[in-house]
Amino acid sequence: MKRIAFVLLITVLALSLTACRVNWFDRHYDVPWWTIAVPIVVFAAIVCFAAGKYIASKKYVCPKCNKSFYPKWWQAFSFHMNGYRVFKCPHCGRKGFCSLSKESDD
Ligand SMILES: [Zn+2]
Repeated sequence: MKRIAFVLLITVLALSLTACRVNWFDRHYDVPWWTIAVPIVVFAAIVCFAAGKYIASKKYVCPKCNKSFYPKWWQAFSFHMNGYRVFKCPHCGRKGFCSLSKESDD
């Protein structure tokens, strides 16, 4: 919930910019809001994608069926605590906390 509030705050702050005045020595430039907002959105998307790929590269174990699986990168943004994350098991369909797998990668 904190993360969603933070993302909303950053988005509102970025979109509330109507213009920005840049002073370069004796010259003044008006910069439109999108020159600030677009790089923020692009950077946030790249960071989310990279973090999702990193989390998806780890193997998790379902506590119900004890089968291990790799989550998809877009599933990585789920509630998590220590080494546990909420995933839906692709084998049995259980949704809940799954622990990091202790076994080495194949
Ligand atoms: Zn399962």
